[in-house]
Amino acid sequence: MSGAPGATIFDVQRFSIHDGPGIRTVVFFKGCGLACEWCQNPEAMSSGPELAYYPDRCIEGCTRCLGVCEDDALAPRREGRIDFARCTHCGACVERCPSSALRLVGQRWSAGELLVEVCKDRPFFDSSGGGLTLSGGEPALQSAFLGEFLPMAKNAGLHVAVETAGAYAFELIEPLLRWVDLWLFDLKVADAALHARYTGRKNDEILGNLGRLLELEQTVEVRMPVVPGRNTDAENVARTAELLGRLGVPSLQLLPYNHLWEAKLPRLGSERVALGLRPPSEEFYEQLSADFARHGLQARV
Ligand code: SF4
Ligand code: SF4
Repeated sequence: MSGAPGATIFDVQRFSIHDGPGIRTVVFFKGCGLACEWCQNPEAMSSGPELAYYPDRCIEGCTRCLGVCEDDALAPRREGRIDFARCTHCGACVERCPSSALRLVGQRWSAGELLVEVCKDRPFFDSSGGGLTLSGGEPALQSAFLGEFLPMAKNAGLHVAVETAGAYAFELIEPLLRWVDLWLFDLKVADAALHARYTGRKNDEILGNLGRLLELEQTVEVRMPVVPGRNTDAENVARTAELLGRLGVPSLQLLPYNHLWEAKLPRLGSERVALGLRPPSEEFYEQLSADFARHGLQARV
């Protein structure tokens, strides 16, 4: 990856079957306009690169990274810690580490580099009706990059889906609409005050953006990341169904809750609080779908 102008991306994941039709390559952008307390990708929240430390990969007796840090952020594993607040993400210790116990999360990619990477999976896209999915974080926040990259991706014949939380001014995505085949639009909580409590922002702009996409006849699939006790109560089910009914959205995809994000927090030196929620049972999702159905909305996992 070059240091040229481009986008900050923290992962390119191949062979996904959950992020749009067919087999997909998912590109994860750093930076997000929300701060959901259940965020599955805490490494996506900040827009710049971050240092991650995997203690289970650190080699007993190894001292290669010690003394390399000019910012005094790195202390020996067994005698001290990494001071994440001091780290300037220079990458010097990462280069020294022989076991990938230290990693930089987030690298700059140019549009050309990203296209070459994604196109490696074209045979899988062609055989399955799949393509490229932009995710994050919030890809729309890197709209200048997307203005360059998306025409290239479409000219290369790729199907393009964008996963978005919709928390930005619509002008950011307006120039991109003709390059996007499918919007996977997350709706987290219907009530504005609860939305602000759980995500750090009210949902009026988000709902406005969803309405605009639908008005402009974009292809939109609305999804709700299921978080037990946060958005699964009768009140939220009723209000979400009512809201989507008003917008003419006939169905809702339920994204199952995954608690594995909590293990990422110490690796990143994050002070976010783990929720301690366990993944719900199959019966829980069946009940939730039935609750939505009672309000006239078809909801499926
Ligand atoms: S990335 Fe650079 S600043 Fe951060 S701990 Fe490693 S050497 Fe220090
Ligand atoms: S270089 Fe890597 S393996 Fe060696 S002590 Fe540092 S973190 Fe551990």
